[in-house]
Amino acid sequence: MTQELHTDIVIFGGGIAGLWLLNRLRQQGLETVLLETDALGGGQTLASQGIIHGGLKYALSGVLSPASSAIAAMPDRWRQCLAGEGDIDLRQTKVLAPHYFMWSSGGYRSRLKTFLGSKALRGRIDALSASSYPEFLRGQSLSGTLYKLTDFVVDTPSLVSNLSSPHADRIFHVPKEQMRLVCNNKGAIAQLALNTSRGTIALSAKRYILAAGEGNGALLSQIGIEQPSMQVRPLHMLALRSDHPHPVFLHCIGDSFGMTPRMTITSHPSQDGGWIWYIGGEIAESGVDRSAEQQIALGRQQLQEVFPWVDYDRAQWTSFFINRAEPKLANLQRPDTAYLHATENVLLTWPTKLTLTPELGQSVVNTLQQQSIAAESGSNEGSTLAQLRKQFATASIAQPRWEDLLR
Ligand SMILES: Cc1cc2nc3c(=O)[nH]c(=O)nc-3n(C[C@H](O)[C@H](O)[C@H](O)COP(=O)(O)OP(=O)(O)OC[C@H]3O[C@@H](n4cnc5c(N)ncnc54)[C@H](O)[C@@H]3O)c2cc1C
Repeated sequence: MTQELHTDIVIFGGGIAGLWLLNRLRQQGLETVLLETDALGGGQTLASQGIIHGGLKYALSGVLSPASSAIAAMPDRWRQCLAGEGDIDLRQTKVLAPHYFMWSSGGYRSRLKTFLGSKALRGRIDALSASSYPEFLRGQSLSGTLYKLTDFVVDTPSLVSNLSSPHADRIFHVPKEQMRLVCNNKGAIAQLALNTSRGTIALSAKRYILAAGEGNGALLSQIGIEQPSMQVRPLHMLALRSDHPHPVFLHCIGDSFGMTPRMTITSHPSQDGGWIWYIGGEIAESGVDRSAEQQIALGRQQLQEVFPWVDYDRAQWTSFFINRAEPKLANLQRPDTAYLHATENVLLTWPTKLTLTPELGQSVVNTLQQQSIAAESGSNEGSTLAQLRKQFATASIAQPRWEDLLR
């Protein structure tokens, strides 16, 4: 038996992109349903470092591009949301660090890069004297300069919870094998067939939003869209739990010619009440060719070099591989802006960075308005949600990857 259901918008994917869009579209009064094949945030979002960037990466060469100006506006835009005055009310989202720091921890070239960056970011960066060092570095005599950035760090589990809890009634866990797209040959989705123990639900919508991160690749193939396409950038991230009492939030700028920090370190509360230090940056990018043992050995060596006063002997280490999913650009360049492509009744999205999600949200709202997709009176939404609820549970929130790995 097939049951026909209708809604305005179907969103695929419950990472930051899908959840942010769900909130923005509900503000517009659009009937919206979000489908998640796994657990909310369990893709890139909870694996991210949670840094709301202000564009430092683009400034280390000393030259600011238009993309860097766009991202420079993001910390303030997020701060408005955190104060309950922005695009979305994020007052339930925790801030782990109100500022992020940058340290020229290497030799001459690292000092040159941080100096050029500080000039390019004039007004958005402060060189600190030893008396203003964050707790972790207090009392240490550092070589090179320590800078305070406008960037800050959010707690991603509380962000996912903040965005999902007001809309739990319209977020459904639908396993991949129960979901099939019915498409025409023009790159449009005719409907979504959801297989249940009681038959098939044929769910149709005015627009379908692909916000499934790396899962967008398979959705594009099912719809038959070859262009645009997706690229993935693999990373080999490191995490350690030590009994050191202080969290670290720091880019360690090294001596390579590249513009990626040698290590980008964030700290996240662990369930046992301590801190997990989480390490990305150049070591994670180059680490995709290293085994877990090699990556951990190098991580330990690099940390020992930059923070020799910490005792690593009792630390527990882990590492894992994860892909960043983005639109594929010419020459495998990294995209600098949030990405939205509208074709037929499909909107393809990648925020590219957690930081840029507010920009993505605004682009989707603008596009739907241009396409005259608006809330209508006389809705039968209650019955669509009630029928879906009979078959599918609310998707749960995933755990950060290190919680399982560092037991
Ligand atoms: C290691 C790492 C560190 C990062 N650090 C930062 C940072 O500090 N600051 C920053 O700004 N950005 C950072 N990023 C980038 C940022 O995390 C991503 O841009 C962002 O989380 C992408 O969100 P998303 O919702 O598009 O994808 P995801 O978070 O990957 O979510 C996609 C969701 O879709 C679901 N899904 C997959 N297929 C389907 C399907 N067919 N139907 C329904 N659901 C489906 C998945 O289960 C998943 O829950 C980092 C990324 C990584 C990997």
